[in-house]
Formats: sequence, structure tokens, C-alpha cells
Amino acid sequence: MGKKKKKKIRVAFRKNRQQRARRTNLTKDVLEQADGTEDLATGERLSGKGDLTRHRTVIGIEEESDDGTQVLIDVDESKCLSGRIVAAVGLNSIVQTDEGRRYECTVRRVVRTLSRDARNAVVTGDHVLFQPTDNEYGVIERVNPRRSTLSRGSQRQEHVIVANIDQVLIVMSADEPPLKPNLIDRFLISAEKGGVDAIICINKVDLIDPIEIQPLAGMYARLGYEVVLTSATAENGIARLRSLLEDKETVLTGQSGVGKSSLLNAIEPSLELQTANVSRWSTKGRHTTRRAVLLALDVGGWVVDTPGIRQFGLWDVIPEEVEGFFVEFRPFVTKCRFPDCSHSHESGCGVKQAVSDDLISRTRYESYLKIILD
Ligand code: GDP
Ligand code: ZN
Repeated sequence: MGKKKKKKIRVAFRKNRQQRARRTNLTKDVLEQADGTEDLATGERLSGKGDLTRHRTVIGIEEESDDGTQVLIDVDESKCLSGRIVAAVGLNSIVQTDEGRRYECTVRRVVRTLSRDARNAVVTGDHVLFQPTDNEYGVIERVNPRRSTLSRGSQRQEHVIVANIDQVLIVMSADEPPLKPNLIDRFLISAEKGGVDAIICINKVDLIDPIEIQPLAGMYARLGYEVVLTSATAENGIARLRSLLEDKETVLTGQSGVGKSSLLNAIEPSLELQTANVSRWSTKGRHTTRRAVLLALDVGGWVVDTPGIRQFGLWDVIPEEVEGFFVEFRPFVTKCRFPDCSHSHESGCGVKQAVSDDLISRTRYESYLKIILD
């Protein structure tokens, strides 16, 4: 945990309210209600009326963490409930309280302004404090620091898909679509970069002779990854998969068609019911396809299905960094002649030598090349 100190922070707010006009999901009444509460929170004061900006002094707790200083807004906790963002669409979110009640919430502007990246100010999986405005609606007052995030990169712009997850379940199919080891490695890098554990699930094993998959499964197991072989239709490996998800927060990722939804239904048939609830709400919003939604499991824990996300980009991973994610390269990089060896075209490369000595899997090495040369 970082150092905490309370201090006053002056924040500039842009005066134009175009942001607000984009809060489309709410009825006009609720929108006005949210407006009305905007300046009422304890500790927020209006102080200055510039033409383009207005300033407000906010009492905040400044927290220093590994990735910089973050300001936690000091809110009147007695007026707030704590909950979890189970779905977020733009500036609107569904927050589920510890008791299981759901509220549709907007985000107080100061929360966005103080966030290092306003676009990712509130995301699915966040633990938040919110002030209910009635039995259905509320305003998010504070987002707690995230213990992990999973992001998608698009043109050097980070988009946080989900926060505070424990593990990623990388779902591949043994066939239909055919298995792509390179994709597994990309997902593994994304997970490691986001600070979460990864489980590799190879589904549709009923379509192949299980012997075929053993070398690959064995290779990842030797690298230290949990590997589970499943068939959602023949119900193979489902009990093991369920126990791997128990009491954890897991993101399911993988190409569409590999069987993610089928696996979730096999693990917990009642999930379909819960998904229906969420999607009924989401039909009101415009951005319904790319969101992550948290689903509660009966065995404990949450799963996140990520519809519409076919492939994670390698957010901010520079080529020189990639070798660090190939753990089995580590003993050999010290043997390279050049300290900045990229293990591709160079002579005297320890990694290439290890590949020809069968000490590093050729599949993994080719996958490495594909990633750095992309
Ligand atoms: P998702 O897009 O990853 O959620 O994939 P779905 O769960 O929608 O499954 C895609 C298709 O694969 C569906 O037609 C499923 O019936 C089929 N499928 C899913 N799991 C299995 C499996 O274990 N074996 C076989 N043979 N088909 C499966
Ligand atoms: Zn090298």
C-alpha cells in the first residue's frame, strides 16, 4: 500500500457540458437529478468562474502507488453504498451492492477529472462508492484503486476492458476454429502485462484425438501454466474448470466460436438467466456489443465474458519487452553475443541455439518472432 495524505486539490473543469449530453441512457428526470447533486457532495466547493474553465477545490486523499500518484476523493461515506461495477456503457454503469441490489449510476464529474485517463475512469470490475439518489439510480463518488486491469490497445490508446480480476481463462478450441498457438502466446502476454494469472483452456476436445493435443498442453504445463482440456458438449473437464473458477474473478477470452458461452452454461446452467437480465438493460444503450459484463457464479466468484473482443492487442508492449514474457528464454538470453540481441537475425544467439538444441519449443520461438516482427 502506498502513502496517503489528505490535501486540497484545485481542479479545472471545462465549462462546456458536451460530455453530459452524451449521457444518453438516462431519462431526462434522472439526468436532472444527477445534475442537481453534482455540486452538493461534502468537500466539493465551487470557487471561481472563469470563462472557459471553472475551478473547484476538492479535498482528496492523495495515494502514491507503484504506477504514480492517484487522488482518492474524500467523500461522505455515510451517504454512500459500496458496490461493484457489473457493466459499464460509456458514463453509465450498473453497480451491484454486496447485498446483490443493482443501481444504474452516472459518474460524478470530479471522478472523471481526477482520473489519470478520463476514458477509463470507471470500468467493469471497479469497486466503487456511490450515493443512491433513489431505489434505482445513483452517482458514483469514488473508484477504489485497481489491483489489476485487462486492456485492449487500439492505435496506442488504452481501453481498459475490466478491472480487479484474478485470472484470465484463455479459451481456444482444439478444432473449429483450428488451434492457434500464437494466439495463446499473445493472450498470455496481455494477461502477464495486466498482472493477472492465466489458465489455458482447450475446448472441443471431442473433435480430435486427445493424443494430438498432448504435446502442446504438456509444453504450457511445463512452463507453469494451468492447462485444462474440455468439451462443453460432451461435458468433459467441466468439473475441473468449475473448481478453477471458484471464488475467483475470471475473464474469459478467446476468439468467437471457440465455445466460451457453451462452457459457461456447462459450468453453471443458471447463468443464462442472469445474462438475460443484464442484456435486457443493455438494449437501452447504444454500445451493446463490446462491453464486458460481470456474472456471479453460484460456487462463488465472478466471470467476465468479453463479447466482441476477438483479440487483445499487445498494449504498450515494445519488441524488446516481449522476450521477458517468454519465461523459458531467460536462461539463454545471457548467452547471446550481443547484449541487445533480438534473437531473430543475429549470430551467436543463445536463444536460437537453444531452439536447435530442443531446449526451447520451436512453436514458442516462432510465436515470439511473429509477435516482435508484427
Ligand atoms: P463463443 O463464441 O466462444 O461463446 O462460442 P459458443 O459457445 O457460442 O460456441 C460456438 C459453437 O461451438 C456452438 O455451435 C457450440 O455448440 C459449439 N461448441 C461449443 N463447445 C463445444 C465443444 O466442446 N465441442 C463441440 N463439438 N462443439 C462445441
Ligand atoms: Zn539472442
